[in-house]
Parts: sequence; C-alpha cells; structure tokens
Amino acid sequence: MSNLVVKSTIAFGPSTPSMPQEEKTTSTRDGQNDARYDAQRIETKWFERWQQDPSLYAAETSSTKPKYYVLEMLPYPSGALHMGHVRNYAIGDALARYMWMSGYNVLHPMGWDSFGLPAENAAIQNNTPPREWTLHNVAAMKAQMKRLGFAYDWSCEVTTCLPEYYKWNQWFFIRLFEKGLAYRKKSRVNWCPKCATVLANEQVVNGCCWRHEDTLVEQRELEQWFLRLTNYAEELLRDLDRLPGWPEKVRTMQRNWIGRSEGTLVDFKLDAATEPAASAISVFTTRVDTIFGATSLQLAPQHPLVARLTRNNDLLRASVDQLIAEQRKAREVGDIGEIEKHGVNTGRYAINPYNGERVPIWVANYILMDYGTGAIMSVPAHDERDYEFAKKYKLEIRLVILPRADDPEETVVEPKLPFTTLQGRLVNSGRFTGMDCDAAIKAMSEHAEKNGFGKAAVTYRLKDWGISRQRCWGTPIPMLYCDKDGIVAVPEKDLPMLLPENVDITLTGGSPLGRVPEFVNATCPKCGGPARRETDTMDTFVDSSWYFYRYTDARNDQAPFDREKAGYWFGSCGIDQYIGGVEHAILHLIYSRFWTKFMRDMGMIKNDEPVERLFTQGMIINHGAKMSKSLGNVVSPDDMVERYGADSTRMYTLFATSPDRELDWQDEGVEGIERFLSRVYRFVVRNAPGAVTTGRAVETQLAASSRPANEASQATSLPPEARQIQRKLHQTIKRVSDDFQGRWHFNTSIAAIMELTNELYTVEGRVAAGDPPAKLVPASLLREVQRTLALLLAPLAPYLAHELWEMLGEKGSLLRTPWPKYDLALAKEDEIEIPVQVNGKLRSRIVVPADAPGDVVREHALSEPKIKAMLDGKQIVNVIVVPAKLVNIVIR
Ligand SMILES: [Zn+2]
Ligand SMILES: [Zn+2]
Repeated sequence: MSNLVVKSTIAFGPSTPSMPQEEKTTSTRDGQNDARYDAQRIETKWFERWQQDPSLYAAETSSTKPKYYVLEMLPYPSGALHMGHVRNYAIGDALARYMWMSGYNVLHPMGWDSFGLPAENAAIQNNTPPREWTLHNVAAMKAQMKRLGFAYDWSCEVTTCLPEYYKWNQWFFIRLFEKGLAYRKKSRVNWCPKCATVLANEQVVNGCCWRHEDTLVEQRELEQWFLRLTNYAEELLRDLDRLPGWPEKVRTMQRNWIGRSEGTLVDFKLDAATEPAASAISVFTTRVDTIFGATSLQLAPQHPLVARLTRNNDLLRASVDQLIAEQRKAREVGDIGEIEKHGVNTGRYAINPYNGERVPIWVANYILMDYGTGAIMSVPAHDERDYEFAKKYKLEIRLVILPRADDPEETVVEPKLPFTTLQGRLVNSGRFTGMDCDAAIKAMSEHAEKNGFGKAAVTYRLKDWGISRQRCWGTPIPMLYCDKDGIVAVPEKDLPMLLPENVDITLTGGSPLGRVPEFVNATCPKCGGPARRETDTMDTFVDSSWYFYRYTDARNDQAPFDREKAGYWFGSCGIDQYIGGVEHAILHLIYSRFWTKFMRDMGMIKNDEPVERLFTQGMIINHGAKMSKSLGNVVSPDDMVERYGADSTRMYTLFATSPDRELDWQDEGVEGIERFLSRVYRFVVRNAPGAVTTGRAVETQLAASSRPANEASQATSLPPEARQIQRKLHQTIKRVSDDFQGRWHFNTSIAAIMELTNELYTVEGRVAAGDPPAKLVPASLLREVQRTLALLLAPLAPYLAHELWEMLGEKGSLLRTPWPKYDLALAKEDEIEIPVQVNGKLRSRIVVPADAPGDVVREHALSEPKIKAMLDGKQIVNVIVVPAKLVNIVIR
C-alpha cells in the first residue's frame, strides 16, 4: 500500500512543471487571472456563502433516511487548534460528507470540554477570569474550525462550562447519590502538590501527575466523593467482547485496566500473643492451593495495620518510611515492577487458618496498597517474587506442590524452585494433600467459607471513581452538609447550583470555593437551618462522560436530553463512528461506558454501549519528534492555511499516510497537494462546458467534440484513449468508495484521484500535439469525468470541490448530490499481462483480453515466439492455466 503512495507522489511531483512556470504559461495563453488556482480567493468566497447558510450541515429532525452519527472527540479550548486536531477532524469531516452524499441523515456536532485546570492556571498568569479566558478560546478555535471548512452542525454546540450544561451534571450526580452510586468516604488520595488537588488513579502516570510529568504524586487522607464504577466492572469487561468495531488494542487496554482475577480471600488472624486486639489481615490469592507453603505475610507500607504496628516503635517506623521512599522512587523511574525488593520484619505474627501455624508479618516495598487488599501471603516455593524475597531474607522455603506424574508408577523428582505451574499435586498440605491444584483451589475456597475465614472471590484492578477536585473551574457538587440532617442533596428546583464567578484563585491548598462565604453558607432544605455547601468540584471527565447525548437535544432545559431524540441517534448500538486519540482509551472511554450503563438502568436510553465503532488516529510528529512548544517544532494550522489553503492542509493530513499511523509532517507535502489541486482546477478551467473562449484552441477542440451523450457509457463504442479514461474513472470511484467503507486508507484514495488526473493530462497533451480531439474523448465523457472529480474531492477538499461544481454549471447542493456509482464492467481492465512459465521458471509474458477463456490463453502462450522457440523439439507434458494469473508449461 505504502509503495503505491510513494510512487504516485513522485509521479505527480517531478513530472509536473513547477507551479509558477505553469501559471505563467496558462495566463499568457488565456489572458485570464482565474486560470490560476488561488486557494485564498476560492476559499474566502465559499466560506462567506457557507456562513450565510447555518442550516447547511444541520441534521434533519424528521427524516426517512437512515441515520448516521459521526463524532470527533471534543477539544479542550486551549486557545488554538494544533495539527493533531486538524487530522482528527479532517477524518471525521471526510466521513460525514461522504455519508451525506451517500444518502444518510448525518449528525456531525462539535463542542468544548471547557472546564479544567489550564483555565485556572491561565487565570492566575494573565489575571483573567477562567470563564472569560475559556470563552475567548472557544471563539478563536471555532473560527479556525470554520476556516478549515469543517461541516459541523453548530446549532447543537455544547460548552460544558456553561450552567445550561453543568446543571445536568448536578442532576445526574443527585440521581447517582439517590441510587447509592455516589458516596462519600475518607480515603487515601493521590495529591499533586503543583495542581494542589486530588488526582484519579487514571491521572497518575508513573507515579507522577499527568499534567506535571516531573511532579511526584503524594498520598493524603481526605473525605471524597466516589462513583461506584466497580458496580459495573463485570459488565464493562464482558461487553468489550461485543465491540468488534473498536481497535483491539483499546479493548486490551480496557481489559487490563479492569484487571479481573479469580481467587480466594483468606483472613489471617493476628496472633493474640503478640497483638491483643482481635483483628485480621485479609489476603487475596489466586493460588490458595499453595497456602500450606506460606512462610510470611507481606504488607504494603501504606497498609492501615502498619501504622498501628509501628506506633510505639520508632526504629520500625523509620524502616517503613524508607520502604515508602523506595516505592515512590521506583514509581518515579517508571516501573514499579522492577523495584529492588526490600522489607522489614515487624516482629509480629499472624495465624494461617488452614494449619494454625504462626507466620511472621513483614512490610515490603514491592507490595502496593492499590492492588488487591494491600497484603499478600508469601509462598516462596511457588512464586517468583516471593522466592526472590525469601532468598534475600533467608525465609523458609517450603515445597507444597509437586509436578503431576503422567504415569502413576513414575517417581516424581523435586522440581526446580520456584515451581509455579498449576500442573501439580499437593503435598505437605494436611487433608488436601494428594489433590490436583485446580481441584484443591475449589475445595480450599469452600473450606474457608464453611469455616468463616474466607471465600472464593473475584477482584478487579478497577477502583471506584474519585471525582472530588479542590478546584474552582468545574461543576460544583450539589450537596449540602447540615449539622442536624447530615448530607443533604440540593433540591432539583435549585439547580443549577451556580459556580461563583468571584473566586480568589491561588494555587495553595484547599478548595477555592471554600473562600467564598456567599457560596458556602446555605440553608438546609430539610430543616431550614444553616447548612454548608460542598466546596469541591467534579472531575472534568464527568462532563465528557455523557456530552454526546446532549448533542442530540442540546437546548433542552427540562432534561439532559429527550429520550426519543437520543434514541433516534444512538439506536441500539450507539454512535456510528467515534474518532479520537488513543490517549482516551482508558479514562474517557471507561467513564462514558459506565455512564451509558447507568443511564440505561435509569431508563433514559436503550443502548448498552455509547460507541459502536471507534477509530483512533495516529499522532503527528515533526522530523521524528513530537510537536511541542519547547522543541519549537509546532506547525500551526493557521500558517498552513494561509500559505496553501484549508483544502491542501486538511487533505495533506489524509494523504501523508493512512490515518491510524504516525504522520511525520513535511511542509513540502502540503505544497505537493496544493500542486495537485491546482492541476485539477486548471484542467476544469480549460475543459468545463462553456469554458470555450477564443485563443484557447486546444481546450476548444477537446471540449467541443460532439458525440451523443449516451455513447459515453458504452465501452465498446469508445476510442481506446477514451476507454482508458472511462476505465480509470470507474476504478477510481471504486477505490475511493471502498476506502470510505473499509479501511479508510484515504492516502490511496487520493493517489487514485491523482492518477485519474494524470490520465486527463495525457490525453490533453495528445490533443495539443495535433491528434484530432473528437477521436479521443467524447464531450459527454469529459463532462462525466470532471463532474465525478468534483464529487470525489468533495469530502477531501470541500472548498475546491464546490468551486469546480459551480464551474461545471451544476446547480444543486454538492453535499446532497448522490455519491458517484461505479460500474464494475467498465472498471475492468480490457487486457491484462500474464506471465508464462516453462517448468516453473518465468520465460515470457503475454497480453490477453482480461476475460479470455483458458483455451485462448493457452493458445496465446504456446504461440508466443520466445516460448515457441523453447518448445521446439520438446514434448509438452502439461499446460496449466490459472485464469488471469499465469500459464505454466511443463515439458520434457
Ligand atoms: Zn499536577
Ligand atoms: Zn438540616
């Protein structure tokens, strides 16, 4: 695929005279300025026309057409689009336009994910209120999108920081609270000292803040609001199998993130002799069958029990602090899995409930509080990590599983340790000795449950979603605290609970909203007494969890959206095509799946999943490096639009490589696209019906040939040159259509359109050289080719396509004109070349009609002069004809 692209780039590059030269020639010949492709002139003209018609891209409210919901991820309004945005939207826009032309009722909306930290930081830096800064950016980026010609239905624009939107975040939050899916608990949270806020687990990257890659995340204890994501863990996992339209890599990432594992929970009671308080350490293990080999327990340094065990032991406390520091450092380096294992013996013991044995309690730096229960049983003989740890600290290594002998007579040799497979049989394991591992796991889980010290359990890596943020630029959480009534939800009639605009923003500590007395002080709706408002705001991922439903009914002030309207656009399978960056594979796409399932359970929608098909486009880099301000290699879309036009800029992002792959930016590539569009434009200038003017002899001849229109579609009646163009035309329609419906290799689509253009230039050249034009291309075919060129370019270079459409005298809206159809018979090659082998070796090639029967091909091959000479005096044993592929002659 990529070879082809390279070839066609080269083909249209050097073989075409450079643009300035051609321009000169053309304008001298015509004495007309519009023979030059002036992207700015054309794009300004259409931009103004489109501005005057806001209904152009509006979805139809009642339609008999099939629906198609195509959506690109909404941007954060940072102030300016970057090339990654342009690529993302160019893909979505091409698809939306293609679907309109294919007869669908299309919803193609855009909005702004406009709450969040950068607005607060900018507010501090520029002394501008976050709202003002944000809405200014929205306006700037919207203008850029319009200039780029993206076909959005702005009537359903969504801006998440406006009360008309976040009111519904609050409404949802109260519903979640009522259903027990929103709850408050004191918890250890990830705290970024630079953001001065809590981060979700998903926002911690390698132990650092996702926004401050060099700032280590601290652990703090805070009262927080959580959403019960884990209630849906099983369904979130299971339904991944029902999303074949998602990239496998995204589904795998989600599977790993949900991290389901089956095992057993076992409670080890603390040894009463060393620990008076009767409490237990709960351990999760996937290998309870090895529990007779447990020779220690290992706790995470942050395990709640550790604080108690170290309370009166400064030396131990210091060692634990050291372990915490090591863990933090390992997170910083990026791979906690590679940490050099250290631990400290607490001197206390717990009791193994299966055999009553005392096992020492250790604290270790490789045990993580956010996995399982934060405590493990250590079985050195049957686990890699435990083995390594036991060797280091000279803990007992006790073998309790032996390999299963295939033959009962066979003597089992002791395995090399650690022996970790499940293909074994228990030894030294009391009443369970002799059982196979899998059977033992089942029996031992049941035993634990019967005796009240454990049970079979499934655990998930997925945690509940902590949504509290100590920031001011987010949705206020609609909750009140009353001394008498406790936590009370804000009554629905009082929504939206407005975000105060006069907040003193500083970066130091606590919730900024807590410093606004008018906000904090409220009246309890239950008792009428004083109450205090929640001062935390919601994680902005709440906003993006359901925004795409709001697009279907964006101005509704009675509900988040109308059930019927959302039902129409989401159908039973969700958004037809969602397009965005793979960096949202986990956060956004798990939260929004959760939200969809919750809304379904509330009866608001019928679909189980928000997105039927997902596409993640590749990144844009520049000379091998990620575009970034610090590297000074950011390519500005505005600069490109100014230099080459919007069409060339967006078309280049589709042409440079296939959209799922990384794109290495080349300005010359955009220039190449501009040159190609210029070729198309100039051809139509010369050959559009009515383009005939004095002094344009060549064009006059080519356009003026007057064959009847119906002959164009009859392949047999066409002269070879015309047939060649007709074949190319239908091949091109087929390739572009197939790409839209298939793998989206727009790069090959565009290459095909370039090849078609080259064919037209070849014929034009022949006419210029004196061949009589009427013999070459009938006017009807010439019209058909140009019309089709405009249609094929419509999703890729909409400005130029509209201009061509008008130049060709077409009246109807290009966007609503049916996508061209191809005729397979006309696309078929008339003659093909096939190799001829003799005894399996390539000896020659023959040219035969594409649909020639086997015996004709055989005769051709045998009479080919070179082959004929080789066969002289030999005996032909067999002639194998693979139709349209090859001929192999076996001789002796
Ligand atoms: Zn941070
Ligand atoms: Zn009250």
